[in-house]
Amino acid sequence: MSQVSPQMEWTLLPPLTDELPYTFDNGAAFNGFNAECDHCGDMIELPLIKGRMATVAGNRCVLMAAAECPSCSGVCHYHYLLNAEGELSAERLDHSQYKEQ
Ligand SMILES: [Zn+2]
Repeated sequence: MSQVSPQMEWTLLPPLTDELPYTFDNGAAFNGFNAECDHCGDMIELPLIKGRMATVAGNRCVLMAAAECPSCSGVCHYHYLLNAEGELSAERLDHSQYKEQ
């Protein structure tokens, strides 16, 4: 039970909640998201998610986060482009690893 993942860097990230709520230039706020495990589909609570937000021009930001699922111990990566132009929307950037239902 002491396996060391080759992808350890994400564990060094600060808790995503340190960055929340994130406020865009236009005043729109992002308070976090409901994460779902890519492996078993269970919900992963926000306090378990680590990551950071990178501001992009035009009321957008890139969310880079990861979490270890408490149910299956699978590590999930979340990579989203958030767009607060108009209604807040999120586009997942890592579609290659993600199967649409
Ligand atoms: Zn899981």
